[in-house]
Amino acid sequence: MKTMTCKQLGGVCEKEFHANTFEEMAELSKKHAMEMFQIGDEAHLKAMNEMQELMKSPESIKAWFANKRKEFDAMT
Ligand SMILES: [Zn+2]
Repeated sequence: MKTMTCKQLGGVCEKEFHANTFEEMAELSKKHAMEMFQIGDEAHLKAMNEMQELMKSPESIKAWFANKRKEFDAMT
């Protein structure tokens, strides 16, 4: 089980996610972002906007995910 925070995954808070695979981790982070979106948390909305900007370029988002996956894999 590895731990990453919302902040480490492009978010803004210190909430921790625990997962065995990077896919699982990304899913937890996405779910958290959705919850924050629903309550209208401004800091998270801003972070999500930035992420959406990144998604406009498939190259950028691919690089971003590859980078995060590397971070995840490097953890023990
Ligand atoms: Zn968060």
